[in-house]
Amino acid sequence: MLLAALSTLSNRLFPDGGIERAVCASGPPFFFALSKWARHLATMTKNADLAALIRTIPDYPKPGILFRDVSTLLLDGQGFRQTIDRMAALVAPDTQLIAGIEARGFIVAAGLSYALGLGKLMLRKPGKLPGEKIGIDYALEYGTDRIELHTGQVKPGQKVVLIDDLIATGGTALAGIELIRQAGGVVEQALFIVDLPELGGADKLRRAGVEPTALIGFDGH
Ligand code: AMP
Repeated sequence: MLLAALSTLSNRLFPDGGIERAVCASGPPFFFALSKWARHLATMTKNADLAALIRTIPDYPKPGILFRDVSTLLLDGQGFRQTIDRMAALVAPDTQLIAGIEARGFIVAAGLSYALGLGKLMLRKPGKLPGEKIGIDYALEYGTDRIELHTGQVKPGQKVVLIDDLIATGGTALAGIELIRQAGGVVEQALFIVDLPELGGADKLRRAGVEPTALIGFDGH
């Protein structure tokens, strides 16, 4: 109840993360900690209507993991439309290409690609791409994986936004960014439905020169 009221207030007063800028403007270093807290609070309370559509399955695929299952959000037509509309509004205007990470990232990327009239680039699991490709191995929250990209599908200097359903440790997103950069693309923005801030992925992206934004933040792993 209190969280919902704070959510409405912070979103109305400080849309687009302005709460953090307002706190930061008051001066370092004490306010740095406060700004992190403010961002955490704002992320945790944004888009509560969409957060309510995401199912949580504990201990999947491993004990201790809270699996944030967006399949229930995808089942809700208006919820999915709102997800795409709200993400589309965040895409930088000079973006030229939408890159989606297999598999749930494809669904979101396809919606954004349609909404914005931009092409979509597929970052695929190993062994799926028939043409000449480059690939990168990376660590996951639960295991290891690899993604691949068709060569010649990113133009040198092309501005690409990276899309996935969720950012946890950031390993998947960073691998995607690295791969697109290897191919000559410029990645400065990444968008997600869900962020798990405790796992630090969004901070890793910021350190790599990419601004991450998620519609929803969830506590825990
Ligand atoms: P990471 O590389 O750790 O940021 O993990 C992100 C990728 O793994 C995304 O493609 C997610 O779909 C998936 N993932 C990781 N953790 C979770 C989780 N707790 N719930 C749902 N999906 C997750």
